[in-house]
Amino acid sequence: MKREGQNTSYVPALGDIEVFCSVCGNPRESESLFRCSCGAPFDLRLNFPFSMPNSESTTLSRYVANFPYIRKDRIVSLGEQMTPLVNFKDRVMFKLEYISPTFSFKDRGSSALISSLASSSSPPPELREDSSGNAGASIAAYCARAGIRCRIFVPITVSGPKAQQISSYGAEMVKVPGTRAKVAEEAMKESYNGIYAGHAWHPYFRDGIRTLAYEICEQLDWNSPDFVFIPVSAGTLLLGLLSGLQHLIASDVIQRMPKVVCAQTEAVSPLHHRLTGEKYTPPPTLNSVADALVSVNPPLLEIMVKESNDARVSSEVISEEEIVSSWTELSHSGFFVEPSSAVAFAAQKRYQDKGMLDDKNSVVVLTGAGLKRPGI
Ligand SMILES: [Zn+2]
Repeated sequence: MKREGQNTSYVPALGDIEVFCSVCGNPRESESLFRCSCGAPFDLRLNFPFSMPNSESTTLSRYVANFPYIRKDRIVSLGEQMTPLVNFKDRVMFKLEYISPTFSFKDRGSSALISSLASSSSPPPELREDSSGNAGASIAAYCARAGIRCRIFVPITVSGPKAQQISSYGAEMVKVPGTRAKVAEEAMKESYNGIYAGHAWHPYFRDGIRTLAYEICEQLDWNSPDFVFIPVSAGTLLLGLLSGLQHLIASDVIQRMPKVVCAQTEAVSPLHHRLTGEKYTPPPTLNSVADALVSVNPPLLEIMVKESNDARVSSEVISEEEIVSSWTELSHSGFFVEPSSAVAFAAQKRYQDKGMLDDKNSVVVLTGAGLKRPGI
């Protein structure tokens, strides 16, 4: 429970959030850089206490005091609300992230990233992003709102509804053959106009996902759940969630860290293999129904491994059969999500079946809407 005296009047300044190289430790020299000159991604450190939310507002403005790089008068919003935390059955709750402006949790990151660009002294007229679909649609929407042109690079296998969504926002879409890494490589080419602000690289995108942790704990009257189950691919959801939870603990708002369980598919499980010390060999082609989970070599992997070990995060690998049966159970219960979201529910069910939850409560994060993928 919230204790007296926590509601600090301290207003964090830009320097209270450190952005530094995750390998060589050098500070970021310019806000326009998405990675260190050594090639490694940036990490973030928060050096300020959590500010209690502005209860008059909704996300992101609700928690904007905790994002010193965003000006209150420059927030780029599409009317985000707190997403519902619904009781599914005894001690199992669903966090309905698919009820977001572009129908996925990515809107938390996009709102923070595009608001940070809009807050800068010279907002870029154009940016580039690479995505398997959901982040591309989300960035395209927030760019449209901010009046920033964008070019979204997607795998040639992008699902029809996601491609339609990206184009509908007025973004230029570039379909790239080959692996997910090839798509990112193409987007980073400086021969294209605009700045590169890929969601898997830019530190402010994953930092925006801190609001998910704040919201879950606020909806539980400033208590932490026992377990949180999430799907993991590029790692932005995992890292944003852990950062937000740790911020609340460091600020004495919640008293203990939930057990976070990362669910990955058999084909895309580099984090699981690292956490269990096994060798991971990605398949030559991906054909999982969980088409949002495609990062076989995520740039944030080393940061994920470190943070997961520090926070004693667990992982599970989910079979295609389990994804389909969990997706069917969700749909038949009224929760129409994309198969990638069902991966997290499958992990929760496995824990339940093994008797590992007993009297514990669980939050399953349902990340994207069912309409984003043609029939399963
Ligand atoms: Zn470096």
